Amino acid sequence: MNILITGGAGFIGSNLANYHVGIGDAVYVVDDLSSGSLTNITDMRNSGHLEFTQADITTWSDLDKVVEWSDRIYHMAAIVGVKKVLANPRGVMYTNITGTERLYQAIAKIKPSTQVLLASTSEVYGFNPQVSFRETDDIIFKQSKSLRWCYAVTKLADEYLAGAFEQSNGVKTVIARLFNTIGPNQTGKYGWVVPQFISQALHNEPITIYGDGSQTRSFCDVRDTVRALDLLASTVAASGEVVNVGNDYEISILQLANLIKKQTGSRSEIQFIPYLEAYGVEFEDIFHRRPVLSKLMDLTGFKPRGRLEDTLDYLINIAKGIS
Ligand code: UDP
Repeated sequence: MNILITGGAGFIGSNLANYHVGIGDAVYVVDDLSSGSLTNITDMRNSGHLEFTQADITTWSDLDKVVEWSDRIYHMAAIVGVKKVLANPRGVMYTNITGTERLYQAIAKIKPSTQVLLASTSEVYGFNPQVSFRETDDIIFKQSKSLRWCYAVTKLADEYLAGAFEQSNGVKTVIARLFNTIGPNQTGKYGWVVPQFISQALHNEPITIYGDGSQTRSFCDVRDTVRALDLLASTVAASGEVVNVGNDYEISILQLANLIKKQTGSRSEIQFIPYLEAYGVEFEDIFHRRPVLSKLMDLTGFKPRGRLEDTLDYLINIAKGIS
């Protein structure tokens, strides 16, 4: 099968590329390398099973040609990561909406029958105060000057774009609302907590908890995530649906810090940092974010396999250079 992955040199995109190369698909990656990295896909390029172009999805001149070649498109290209979003909200609005619109225009014109998977986010649930989220739950935004929410708004706009192109052109998309994901190629540079804590712990530097650490998250091993994405894209009944993707095991950020400290044998102290200091602006964190996975399981039979402790061990070994 011919697979196009936009944003395929990024964290989840490169793991997805690796998975598809592994099962013998022809994979084409386009990425502007604004946060993705060539080292994430070097081995696959050297093996001759992956084609790569560095381009911005909003201007890429070969878009039509590659859309025609593709049997399946994973649209992952976007500006993500809380710190990146806060630093470049205008870029977020442009890349995440205009890029998606341009891709869908090409699909509608050239190959409306292609399978499309759109990467959305659990952030679209916004300030909904629930602890866990089903796809039918309300999306709640409140008055806030914080531009942090522009990311969620662009992803929600993308979800509606997909719906609009389905109605007007018959393009079928499965929308994956990705919850927190961890794995190789994720960098702590833009704020993601697990690579940040592992690096701090291995260097015996303070482990920086933002707020009091009582906020909880559910982390999914990216190897599970890409399996779920592949299953969703392959399942006819999932087409046209919005589906949560993640792992429903929940842990507080303080427990996570202690777990990483224990698993690395680190001497790091745990440091609590106010949000204002951490992000440089007023910041309202989301307290709980756990996916309800019954829709994903019913549609595809998927069950997450990765235990958090095992994924952390795997990532700690990679960070130590033992893999
Ligand atoms: N976080 C933290 N210390 C860090 C980085 C993040 O305590 O060095 C917290 C962050 O405030 C949030 C949680 O960890 O409550 C998950 O953050 P991440 O940016 O990984 O994902 P998201 O906020 O999108 O869930």
